[in-house]
Amino acid sequence: MAQLEDKEILIEVCNHCGKDVSRGSGNFANRVPDFNDILTRLDNNLIFPIGDFVCGICDDNSLT
Ligand SMILES: [Zn+2]
Repeated sequence: MAQLEDKEILIEVCNHCGKDVSRGSGNFANRVPDFNDILTRLDNNLIFPIGDFVCGICDDNSLT
């Protein structure tokens, strides 16, 4: 864990609804990583494009 410079920091919120999906939030288990970059998320009209995850509820709704 010495070199963290190249490691991307994940923003642990749902990029659809902005819900906290970090460990202990209650949404951690059902979260799904979103591998799109922020520009792609903006193109998809996501409300919280900085989020690196989709929560279980939004994933079920399959809005993407
Ligand atoms: Zn959500």
